[in-house]
Amino acid sequence: MSVTLPPGMDGTAFATAMRALASEIGNEWVLVTEEDLVPFKDAYGFAEPVAHVPGAAISPGNVEELRAVLRIANEHGLPLWPISRGKNYGYGGAAPVMSGTVVLDLGRMRNILDIDEKHGVAVVEPGVSFFDLYHHLEREKIPFWCSLPGHALGSVLGNALEYGLGYGPTGDRANNLVGMEVMLPSGELIRTGMGAMDGSPCWNLFPYSYGPSWDRMFMQSNFGVVTKAGVWLYPEPEEVLTIAIELPNESDIGWLVEALAALRMRGVLQGRVYTSNFMRVVMVSGRRGEWSEDSRAIPETRFKDIMGEFDLGWWGLDLNFYGEPELNRARAKVVADVFSRYTTQRFKTHSWKRGEPRPQSPAHGVPISFPLRLANWVSPNGGHLGFSPILPPDRTAIEQQISRSRALFRKHDFDFYGAVTLGERHANVVNMLAYDRSDADMGRRADALFRELMADAKARGFGEYRSHLSYMEDVAQTYDFNGGSLHRLNEWMKDAIDPNGILAPGKQGIWPTRFREKQA
Ligand code: ADP
Repeated sequence: MSVTLPPGMDGTAFATAMRALASEIGNEWVLVTEEDLVPFKDAYGFAEPVAHVPGAAISPGNVEELRAVLRIANEHGLPLWPISRGKNYGYGGAAPVMSGTVVLDLGRMRNILDIDEKHGVAVVEPGVSFFDLYHHLEREKIPFWCSLPGHALGSVLGNALEYGLGYGPTGDRANNLVGMEVMLPSGELIRTGMGAMDGSPCWNLFPYSYGPSWDRMFMQSNFGVVTKAGVWLYPEPEEVLTIAIELPNESDIGWLVEALAALRMRGVLQGRVYTSNFMRVVMVSGRRGEWSEDSRAIPETRFKDIMGEFDLGWWGLDLNFYGEPELNRARAKVVADVFSRYTTQRFKTHSWKRGEPRPQSPAHGVPISFPLRLANWVSPNGGHLGFSPILPPDRTAIEQQISRSRALFRKHDFDFYGAVTLGERHANVVNMLAYDRSDADMGRRADALFRELMADAKARGFGEYRSHLSYMEDVAQTYDFNGGSLHRLNEWMKDAIDPNGILAPGKQGIWPTRFREKQA
């Protein structure tokens, strides 16, 4: 059996650490064979070079066992990579940045600890998936819905910690994760915000703290292991009103984003606002072979036919309104009036009313997983990678970004799936590339495209908000104000809170001292 060891640790020391772990959490929760570790690899990684290979995977069953795991890791200098469910495939799944790191799988801590039906809060452990929470709410007839991502195999908690975005009024998930319990690398347990007061009924209601607010410090970081958190739900609406529009021209994106941003600022829109080009629908269809015989980009001369066949415009947009029908209709009318200044295209409207069967759609609080088919667009052995810089929601900036992105996709010969997610005061431009993992040349092209997109965005001051394991370091380096002073603060913090450097080395480009030199 060949084991991938963490840097600086020999086989004997590693085996000793594994035995110590097994004696605390049980042999069956310490996985070391190649076969057992398959689910903990980067499922969408390029074939060559093989990276992010876990040394082992361990799974404590509760907070006490987790404390024992951290103690042993500190004693043996064993690096750990915490995951909740490890299903964020586009970013590396369950795999660690540094090969040899042991995946700390929190999936067994899977309890829904409390549902506050008065204030709309679920307190969950890391292993609770979106499907778990949905089934619980349904089974218990609790009149609340949980915001859901496009594919919902992942965990409610892990997704929010990574700034995941989703459907519904609470779709800005990081801002709807309120009140955490965190185990520090030392094994000490803390509660953030009002939870720092023993017995406070407001732990999961007030998002700040008395004094500094630490919650954000545990998001996209390697400073602690989150063991539970409060998630705000939204009340089952009386109605979901959906208005959908297809816009025929590539150039429609500029006015569309600017108009939506203004509507957003006026409080007219609710929930996630996501517009994408026709490739979003086409890429999950599994029909690529009908338009192309090889893995090169589908010729642009075919676009018109493809859009016609799927009855799509260049850009498609669904807006959902949640609540009382009168309010929904008033909001939809304001949007339609604004849009009529820019386009003659009309909205299609449909609605769901409480009591009717729910559509199988995350916009209606029902989890699905089929959008994962996107990964198989080019080949059954496929993968996908997203590049998502943050921009101001301004017409020119968005138009130019889309046109530069598309030119780069063309240059490297990839089909272009482009989309824009609108936040409160920003736009997130999603550039999605799908590839065949077993095609080494395609892997090299995908890597070159990603790096060019990153450099192009950086030259204009646009940075990524989240990234795949392979690019965490590179993206961190684009944040270079004052010689990278924020990064220096992160690493100073890392050494202070995790002096033995055991938690998630390299996460978001943050390394503890003992591995920092090796990476330079
Ligand atoms: P998903 O919920 O989509 O399955 P993961 O469990 O893979 O996502 O979590 C995504 C990332 O978030 C992990 O790689 C890890 O860096 C971080 N993370 C997830 N859960 C925790 C946790 N409980 N404590 C600290 N960090 C976490």
